[in-house]
Amino acid sequence: MTTDHALPFGNERLTTGQWIEVRSPYDDSLIARVPKCDEQHVQRAVAFATAVRDAGPLPPYQRAEILDRAATALSNRIEEFARIIAAEAAKPIRTARVEAQRAVSTFQFSAVAARTLAGEVVPMDASAAGAGKIAFTLRIPIGVVGAITPFNFPLNLVVHKLAPAIAAGCPVVVKPASQTPVSTIRLVEMLIDECGLPAGHINVVTGGGGTVGNAIVEHPDVALITFTGSPEVGWDIRAKAARKKVGLELGNNAPVIIEPSGDWETAAAKISVAGFSHAGQSCISTQRIFVHETIATDFTDALVDNVKNLVVGDPMDESTDVSALISTGERDRVHTWVDEARAQGARVACGGEIGDDGVLRPTVLTNVDDDMKVCALEVFGPVVAVMTYTDFDDALRRANTTRYGLQAAVFTTHIADAMKAAQTLDFGGVLINEVPTFRADQQPYGGLRDSGNTREGPKYTVEEMTDARLIIMNA
Ligand code: NAP
Repeated sequence: MTTDHALPFGNERLTTGQWIEVRSPYDDSLIARVPKCDEQHVQRAVAFATAVRDAGPLPPYQRAEILDRAATALSNRIEEFARIIAAEAAKPIRTARVEAQRAVSTFQFSAVAARTLAGEVVPMDASAAGAGKIAFTLRIPIGVVGAITPFNFPLNLVVHKLAPAIAAGCPVVVKPASQTPVSTIRLVEMLIDECGLPAGHINVVTGGGGTVGNAIVEHPDVALITFTGSPEVGWDIRAKAARKKVGLELGNNAPVIIEPSGDWETAAAKISVAGFSHAGQSCISTQRIFVHETIATDFTDALVDNVKNLVVGDPMDESTDVSALISTGERDRVHTWVDEARAQGARVACGGEIGDDGVLRPTVLTNVDDDMKVCALEVFGPVVAVMTYTDFDDALRRANTTRYGLQAAVFTTHIADAMKAAQTLDFGGVLINEVPTFRADQQPYGGLRDSGNTREGPKYTVEEMTDARLIIMNA
């Protein structure tokens, strides 16, 4: 049965008289309807948030208590949220449960961040000018936060913005992706109805990025934009919001290098998950695989065997590993890139076609050149590209040859090569003997170049969402 959702919005539950249909990316069935907002609704939502800001923040212990209650409430409702994620994003239900469980952890670490939020002592006596004075900093909430989120982690990436904002003492206006708004609405309802978050602290607006999202970006009373999504939209926001703080978490074409000394069988097993989880629609999906030529055949055979065993189908089915891409347009784009690579000389070792169910099959390409789209750009689909190398330094150079810089990985048992990789790979995170698709929610997570300009993870996000106020005291 289809549900119409009203939006948590100030003291209200808002409907606008116009609706956006949320449809299953897998079978196009109607899942829900959410209000279609416009710029006027953003103005009102920011006014609610501004009133909360002006009333002054809750004390940190109360913020932490709300976040603790949120962790408990969500852990009691994993299945409910997993089913929402699976329905609106076509994320296979087992993977959706992992996302919901991770969101609990994000709340828990945000509670810790609220309890430990503190400035620093400044050693004034270290200079003659400061002698006799005592100085320290306070962490002050930056003000109203505008949060704009993508479709691929419709719960946990929203929690990565809302929970640190609660910890920092900042009210929020949040705009979820139009394909996946239900997770956000239900989450904010839970925070207000069950966890003691006062109304007005988080206000949800749903509607198009170019209208509602842009109105948040351009609103003068929004102090900080936290955005996760594509580089094109992200850098455009950065340019439009010159006087705001703007945190961008963007795309990637994550590389992994597999040395002959490394455990390539484990690498093949892990990559068959890491390249295809949520059909490759993760910003750190393993995409570019550089394998040493001496183990290339064995590694590729093992990888292809694993990938052929992935179960493709309905996201609600317990056995499904890979389901539909977010839209038929995205599916057709990825399929075209595969066909283009094939025409340019790549070999399709498995997959490459769209099944009768309309789902693009998990695809392993070999004989790929670095400048083919499937290597040079972010595929954001169920496709990995295998390339061979002879010289480790050359593999490092090729891994670094990208406009992106989120996470990269190396499998090796040679400590010198691991250290060289750590020092050479120009990414926000370098993983040794792990796939680049790994993320724990407390780590500083973020990228360089077209992968963004910030680090997320509750402790780091709270720093971004607070300003340091210097207090100097004279005797
Ligand atoms: P997207 O198209 O950039 O959309 C992201 C959000 O921005 C959506 O809420 C969208 O609204 C909104 N938006 C679109 N145009 C806007 C505008 N002009 N002004 C303000 N907001 C606007 O990205 P996506 O397709 O949802 O997500 C895929 C991308 O996100 C990939 O590149 C992926 O790598 C990246 N990503 C990065 C991370 C990370 O942590 N680094 C994590 C996940 C995903 P509508 O939905 O209404 O269009």
